[in-house]
Amino acid sequence: MKVFVFDAAKCNGCYGCQLACKDEHAGNDWSPIAAPQPDTGHFWCKMVEKTHGQTPKVRIEYTPHFCNHCDNAPCIEAAPEAVYRREDGLIIIDPEAAKGNRALVDSCPYGAIYWNDELELPQKCTGCAHLVDEGMLPHCVDVCTTGALRFGEEEEFAREIAEAEVMGDPKLGPRVYYLNRPKLFISGEVWDPVPNDIIENATVTLTSSTGAVMSTQTDFLGDFWFRRLEPGRYTLDIKAEGYKPVTQTVELEDSLNVGDYPLEKL
Ligand code: SF4
Ligand code: SF4
Repeated sequence: MKVFVFDAAKCNGCYGCQLACKDEHAGNDWSPIAAPQPDTGHFWCKMVEKTHGQTPKVRIEYTPHFCNHCDNAPCIEAAPEAVYRREDGLIIIDPEAAKGNRALVDSCPYGAIYWNDELELPQKCTGCAHLVDEGMLPHCVDVCTTGALRFGEEEEFAREIAEAEVMGDPKLGPRVYYLNRPKLFISGEVWDPVPNDIIENATVTLTSSTGAVMSTQTDFLGDFWFRRLEPGRYTLDIKAEGYKPVTQTVELEDSLNVGDYPLEKL
């Protein structure tokens, strides 16, 4: 059974995968797998960008969204005569049998199905099944030069799948796996206002309300970063030799640049 694996740590946000989907499907008829995708309005592979943090400590997270090729696919339940699962697990909307079935668009809980006005067809990612049948990769995967987006047999990716997350309801059995999603961060800067200079190697400790403790040191810019955090309440302790320590409580709902911490000399 085929799976997609996406590693956020390797993605540079080039949008190559999204463009490759257009290149492969817009104006090209791959019937009986897929009728042509319209030039505009459809994103069978849609790169979603989320900005985390506040200036100047900002990170952008890129996540491709496409059909999850669910094991328990609500779209098949909604139209078993028009949607089917191939032996390799890819879910296909039959362009002939699905003609005129606009309600199918709403059957996908992930918004992965688009309506083609001109052809009166619900359409979505096919996993480029027409290429897979020729022993090739889906076009979005083929163009990904960083190796962030991969595709293959489930067994090949057993190690990655064990560490991965899925989007949405795991009970639907999604076959797209996400690694290294950035989650939230807390960052800030430590400095001495008297000489107006940053403090390098200050020890910054973060304690979560569950008691988990993380520690880091400020870098050559006086910056500190704690990444991949869950939302919640945290206590931040900053200590540097020769300075009075500082403690602050942080409620983390979204990634947060806590700003500059001026330390006072002892
Ligand atoms: S082609 Fe690869 S690196 Fe570029 S946006 Fe898509 S997943 Fe990221
Ligand atoms: S993600 Fe949506 S379109 Fe794809 S198989 Fe699941 S329910 Fe169907």
